[in-house]
This record gives sequence, C-alpha cells and structure tokens, in this order.
Amino acid sequence: MTIINNASLKPFNTFGIDAKAQSYCDISTIENLISVLKDYHASPLFILGGGSNMLLTKDIEALVLHINLKGIEVISETDHSVIVKAMAGENWHNFVVWCLEHNYGGIENLSLIPGNIGTAPIQNIGAYGVELKDVFVSCEAIKIDDQSVKTFSKEDANFGYRESIFKQDLKDQYIITSVNLELSKTKHQLYTDYGVIRNELDANGITAPTIQDISKAVITIRQTKLPDPKEIGNSGSFFKNPIISAKEFSELECNFPDVPSYKISDDAIKVPAGWLIEKAGFKGKRFNDYGVHKKQALVLVNYGNASGKEIFELAQLIQKTVKRLFNISIETEVNII
Ligand SMILES: Cc1cc2nc3c(=O)[nH]c(=O)nc-3n(C[C@H](O)[C@H](O)[C@H](O)COP(=O)(O)OP(=O)(O)OC[C@H]3O[C@@H](n4cnc5c(N)ncnc54)[C@H](O)[C@@H]3O)c2cc1C
Repeated sequence: MTIINNASLKPFNTFGIDAKAQSYCDISTIENLISVLKDYHASPLFILGGGSNMLLTKDIEALVLHINLKGIEVISETDHSVIVKAMAGENWHNFVVWCLEHNYGGIENLSLIPGNIGTAPIQNIGAYGVELKDVFVSCEAIKIDDQSVKTFSKEDANFGYRESIFKQDLKDQYIITSVNLELSKTKHQLYTDYGVIRNELDANGITAPTIQDISKAVITIRQTKLPDPKEIGNSGSFFKNPIISAKEFSELECNFPDVPSYKISDDAIKVPAGWLIEKAGFKGKRFNDYGVHKKQALVLVNYGNASGKEIFELAQLIQKTVKRLFNISIETEVNII
C-alpha cells in the first residue's frame, strides 16, 4: 500500500478538474483500508469512488482514500430471486451488465449511470422510474473513527430522493465497503412508463421487452441526451429537481402556463430544474472553458481547463437567477468540495 504525496486528481473526477490531493492512497483490500484508518483516522480524510458526483473547487488538504475494492458474488438465491453482494469499488454500469448477462432483473433502468457500487446508496441513485432503494437489501460500512463494521438495512439507510443517511446524519463517518441487492431471476417487473423508454422500444418494434431490451433503450437514450464525461467533463445532473407546494405551483403556473410538472402528492409537485434553467436563458451558454450543456440544461460542463471555482460560481449564478425569476430554490445534486 503506497501513499503518494501531491497527487493530481484530474484522472479521478469526471469533471476533469485538476485539483491536487495532499496525499493519495489506492485501497484494494479491506485489510489495507482498516490498516490505513488505524493510522490516519484522526487526520483529515477524503473518500473517493468513481469521482462522478463531485465538483472539486480547491485542492484537497487531506489523505484521499480511493476505494477500489473489487468482487461480485451471489450470496443466496431462491427459484425467483437472488441476493448479490458487490464490493464498493466495482463500477456500477459494469455491475449492471454482469446482472443482465446472468438475467438478473431490477436495475436495467439504471444502466450507464457512472460511478461505483459503494457510492450508489449515498444519493440513492435513480433514473427512469427506478431507484437503488427498490432493490437495496443492505450495505456494509466501516466507521472511520474506530474501524467497527456495521450493516445498514434499507430502514437504516433512510432513503429519499437523491438522499440517504450517509449524506445527512452520518455524513463522512462511514466508508461503505459492499452492497447487497435483491434482484429477480424470473417474472421480472419492468418499468417502461417513462415516455422516452416506451418510444425507444416502439421505434425498434419491441412489444414484449426483456430486461436486456430495456437496458439497451436506456443506454441509447442516455447517449443521445447526456454528454459523455470522457469527451466533455461533467457530473451529470448538477441540480436536483425542486419539489414545491401546490400553492407555490399554482402561482408558478399562473405566470408560466407551460411549466411541466410531476405530482408527488396533493401538496408536493416536482418541477424539472432543467426547464427552469433553460427558461432562465442558460441552456447552451458558454463562458470561456465552462458552461451549460447545449442539449441538457441540468448539466454543467468543463470544455477543457476550467477550474472548479469557475463552475461553482456559474452554479451560484444559475441558482440566484432561478430564485429571482421563479421564486424557487434549486439545490445542487453534485457534492461541492
Ligand atoms: C454523465 C453522468 C450521468 C449521471 N446520471 C445519474 C443518474 O441518472 N442518476 C443518478 O442518481 N446519478 C447520476 N449521476 C451521478 C453519479 O453517477 C452518482 O451519484 C454516482 O453514484 C456517484 O458515484 P461515484 O463513485 O462516482 O461517487 P464519487 O463522486 O466518487 O463520490 C460521491 C460522494 O460519495 C463519497 N463516497 C464515495 N465513495 C464512498 C464510499 N465507498 N463510502 C462512503 N462515501 C463514499 C465521496 O466522498 C463523495 O462525497 C451521473 C453522473 C454523470 C457524470
């Protein structure tokens, strides 16, 4: 186990920000993780997964632990379902592909989401009507300060929209080392309600889709809609979709009758942040080496050598403008570091 000083984090974050880590350590075994935590738990630590949900606005004055624990195994199964344990450093999409190859269903709608398995519970990743919590059984995590091991059940994890206990009460206290998911082997429950998925299946003449067909449809949709971080630095949706009250929504609708919405309950309406940002005139705007993506207003991008600080200032300008125009606060989904 080697600790490297003054390491560039540019290859390890999908925004491609050239921030430096005071020191960096690749963690590929649980033994290494426990040993490094024993020595350094009282020093500043920073946990890194796939780097696809963070904007680095400064150098990291800490020891960066890059969680690269690998392994996937079936730990139990019945005729109809299976519980799979995946180690935290497995790439999420590679895991989805592995499940599809074994015909295990439940996460096909989450195809092509970047990042690692160990991070998936932190913001309860979700897309096209499915969230991690729908298949989550438990995860194992090591407490940073005393290296004790704890298993978190679905109830413990307290999942919400892009939320969990790991982003709230237990922020920066635990390192997730593995995740157990329950997936179907037969009678897969398919989620094709999203219009775009339906349209993509129809366009290919698929009337009785398999989980593999749904994954393919999701991949095609995502590839046309979202910029590939390998080509343009980004962190996916930069902001969460705001949820407002019925009263706030009727005021908004009065001024903007074309506002799209999604009813969550009688007094909770979700409004697409991308629509608000586009309406505020930011879609496709470029400032030097950074800007708002031309096809997807929710995605902020680094065209080359932008700094995290520049992108953060743009995010703040967008938040202020949306607040002024619509009286709605939009929160960042990306972790600002
Ligand atoms: C193009 C693109 C599209 C995206 N689309 C979606 C989408 O559709 N839906 C969605 O939900 N998200 C989406 N995302 C966001 C991102 O993929 C997810 O949030 C993903 O789970 C982040 O994983 P990561 O390993 O890259 O996390 P990182 O960015 O490495 O880390 C995120 C946070 O978790 C902490 N952390 C990392 N690993 C651990 C660990 N093992 N234990 C404890 N803490 C840890 C870090 O300190 C940091 O605070 C997208 C991102 C991109 C770039």
